[in-house]
Amino acid sequence: SQRVGVLALQGDVREHIRAVEACGVTAQPVRRASELAEVSGLILPGGESTTMDKLIRAFELSEPLQDFIAAGRPVYGSCAGMILLADRIADPAKDLRGEPQRTLGGLDITVRRNAFGRQRESFETDLDFKGLSDSERPVHAVFIRAPWVEESGVQVQSLATVRIDGKDRAVAVRSGNLLATSFHPEVTGQGEMPGELRVHELFIRMMKQEA
Ligand code: GLN
Repeated sequence: SQRVGVLALQGDVREHIRAVEACGVTAQPVRRASELAEVSGLILPGGESTTMDKLIRAFELSEPLQDFIAAGRPVYGSCAGMILLADRIADPAKDLRGEPQRTLGGLDITVRRNAFGRQRESFETDLDFKGLSDSERPVHAVFIRAPWVEESGVQVQSLATVRIDGKDRAVAVRSGNLLATSFHPEVTGQGEMPGELRVHELFIRMMKQEA
């Protein structure tokens, strides 16, 4: 059966689980390698990438997660999850010993963390997003101290951009089975009602090899 795993170490795990289940697919929280083995795709949630990086290493999940990505399994990262998927961080945080944060990598992009600056720490906007069902209708996107994609390899497709200071910045990208968004489609719901589900639906179609 097709199950979607949600990395459940930190961040907005419940919101992703709710969105996946609203799409009619079983969601499985993933905290250990044995749970990763039970899922056909994985979501890396939004939260704090430095904390997730530390917990991934403490739970000895770096290798299993990198193997999962290298095997070509579908992975979707939102916000902090985009940072975890990136091969490079323009401005990595350093811990007390001066060690830069690490990523899992796999997606040939350079991300800039907290890229939108102080005035725009948190904002909402409507985006044109390629490849969604009903793609005439914009995606209402919530950005919370979000990264943007500063550079990307030729095989990386930009699916949505935000124009900042005269430059279009990619905020949704896909490369093969890897999908990443700077924003949080999982948090646009009201109460227990999920709002925007089309990004999760796209990811589930990728898992079923229909997109
Ligand atoms: N700024 C956070 C980070 O660097 C990401 C914020 C988010 O996921 N909402 O990890």
